[in-house]
Amino acid sequence: MKQLTKQVCFVTGGSRGIGRAIVTAMGEAGADVAFTYQNSSAQALALAEEVSAKGVKCRGYQADVANTEQMQEVIKQVIAEFGHITILVNNAGINRDKSFLKMTKPMWDEVMRVDLDGVFTTTQIIAKDMAEAGSGRIINISSIVGQTGNFGQANYAAAKGALISFTETLARELAAKGINANVVAPGFIDTDMTHRLTEAALNQVKAMTPMGRLGKPQEIADAVVFLAGPHSSYVTGQVLAVNGGMYM
Ligand code: NDP
Repeated sequence: MKQLTKQVCFVTGGSRGIGRAIVTAMGEAGADVAFTYQNSSAQALALAEEVSAKGVKCRGYQADVANTEQMQEVIKQVIAEFGHITILVNNAGINRDKSFLKMTKPMWDEVMRVDLDGVFTTTQIIAKDMAEAGSGRIINISSIVGQTGNFGQANYAAAKGALISFTETLARELAAKGINANVVAPGFIDTDMTHRLTEAALNQVKAMTPMGRLGKPQEIADAVVFLAGPHSSYVTGQVLAVNGGMYM
């Protein structure tokens, strides 16, 4: 039996990048996987087919993670089709970078809506169900930027930093209900999000990383599978940094 057989995993933002690797890794570990996406319908469909071919159930659902009604509806549908959700991965996230003095309020608000409000909404709906069942795993994808801050990312750093203290609070409140809550804090990972960086910025990142390279989405997914599985049963409220040594 694989380590996540009989588990039902819900991943936000699963169509591309890190989320896509998490969906695939969860399926390979034996879990049925439901994931959301916002625009990438073709990629979501292809991913669901690819993961279903591994012998698990997998489906993508279109929903804006920041839209409470849409998330309520999708989660209801997922529970009806997959059964009780046992693992939640809050992965969907965006950045809207600008140095602080030039950052507009809409840029601030957009990042907060997706990276923080979306996590609140999704987690509250699913955690209530997990608490009733008396077990569950919640894994929130923060960022190295939430630990250190970063030039041009006041909005993103604030949201990702808040995710860490949010998760620590969940861990304290929900341990008695059998729920573990942890954070994975990636360093700079090779996805569409970092493809937008200039070559000079990427070279600077590599120079600041002891391992001298960007991370791969699979390397984040491996950490998520660990936090979702039986080998992390006594781990809660922790930040698992997967960053090539860039911050320690
Ligand atoms: P990508 O931009 O490659 O993918 C983002 C994913 O989130 C897509 O599946 C996208 O869907 C989805 N998404 C975006 N906005 C919404 C929304 N409003 N509602 C639902 N889904 C949405 O990002 P990454 O894979 O790089 O990042 C994934 C997570 O990891 C994010 O939380 C990010 O902050 C974090 N992270 C990334 C790092 C990196 O270096 N890449 C470093 C540290 C943290 P669609 O395809 O439909 O647009």
